[in-house]
Amino acid sequence: MEQNSKIIPFIDFDTHYNKIESELLVSIKKILSEKKFIQGSYCEDFSRNFCNVHGSKYATGCSNGTSAITLSLKALNINPGDEIITVANSFFATVEAIHEAQGKIVLVDCNPKTYGIDFEDLKRKVTKKTKAIIPVHLYGNPVEMDKVLEIAKKHNLKIIEDCAQAHLATFNGRPVGTWGDFGTFSFHPSKNLSACGDAGLILTQKKSSLSNLKRQINHGRTNKIHEILAGNHRMDEIQAAILDVKLKYLNSWTDKRIQKAKYYDSLLKPKGFKVMEVNQKAKCVYHLYVTEVSNREEVVSYLEKRNISTAIHWYPPIHLQPALKGLKFKRGDFPETESISKRILSLPIYPEISKGQMDYVIKNFLKVAKV
Ligand SMILES: *Cc1c(COP(=O)(O)O)cnc(C)c1O
Repeated sequence: MEQNSKIIPFIDFDTHYNKIESELLVSIKKILSEKKFIQGSYCEDFSRNFCNVHGSKYATGCSNGTSAITLSLKALNINPGDEIITVANSFFATVEAIHEAQGKIVLVDCNPKTYGIDFEDLKRKVTKKTKAIIPVHLYGNPVEMDKVLEIAKKHNLKIIEDCAQAHLATFNGRPVGTWGDFGTFSFHPSKNLSACGDAGLILTQKKSSLSNLKRQINHGRTNKIHEILAGNHRMDEIQAAILDVKLKYLNSWTDKRIQKAKYYDSLLKPKGFKVMEVNQKAKCVYHLYVTEVSNREEVVSYLEKRNISTAIHWYPPIHLQPALKGLKFKRGDFPETESISKRILSLPIYPEISKGQMDYVIKNFLKVAKV
């Protein structure tokens, strides 16, 4: 036990799954005995339950969080060249989805306090060709959706909320993913609600959007008639059953993440380290716990030697990735995102991390880290 508390993985999958393994096995075995591996009742059930806990009208499961964004964009009937705005400080998937839907990628800098979209830069980037905005509730910290809605309304733009890191987060008491035309979720094994593989989900408030998505997810068909060329983006039944078991715990896991983050805040803030700012009206669900340091390499290797895993989300930033060479972004285009990308460091956070483990992380962090 003592030794165990001194090995701190970035995510503790062992502890996480040990607690619920027997429950998961019951569901998995049921599917193995029924042998209905796709398009059975589990994906429908899980989607409905996830929809309900988010107070959404409609939801549909899909293959992963990236396809959730792509399918939502396609449901908006994007024309090639339509501009889709998102943030430079996000995971790469957000821009991949725009590319996949044949939109033009337009990036906006981030607010260095909340790490979310910078509204002044957003207003500057809206043009006559802008079709949609994809705010990302990064690290689980809700974007101020009232401001997004205001800008969207003024310019007649659609909104897709990338909620891959923000299950159960709320702004003004309203769950993220229900403010926009679409809210997209990922259940990648690292996320706050995670599958044992890949899975995703889309929330929407319109019945016609739901039918559009369902058709796209399943080879463009309704019954046997293929109405569009769309491919296969289904969630499988085993993943859905696993997610449905885990969904029952999501509220308590989320509360624990918030408690842990507050504890880290209380240890780091007095020492002058940056802690993520959360809007008073927002409930942040801390998918990641990020702080900033000026000597990152040194901190990472010092902590690694003491069996403390950390991670960087992300470096280099999206606009400087080789895959986007063709878009001719330059160093200096998004100064806040670039500055953050050189300093940011994610510390281990998960519902199962103990106070002793967090104390051990911070004790060592403070020995080496420079503001
Ligand atoms: C994880 C993630 C995605 C993509 O989800 P996948 O299920 O891995 O495809 C999209 N956007 C953000 C912000 C993410 O963190």
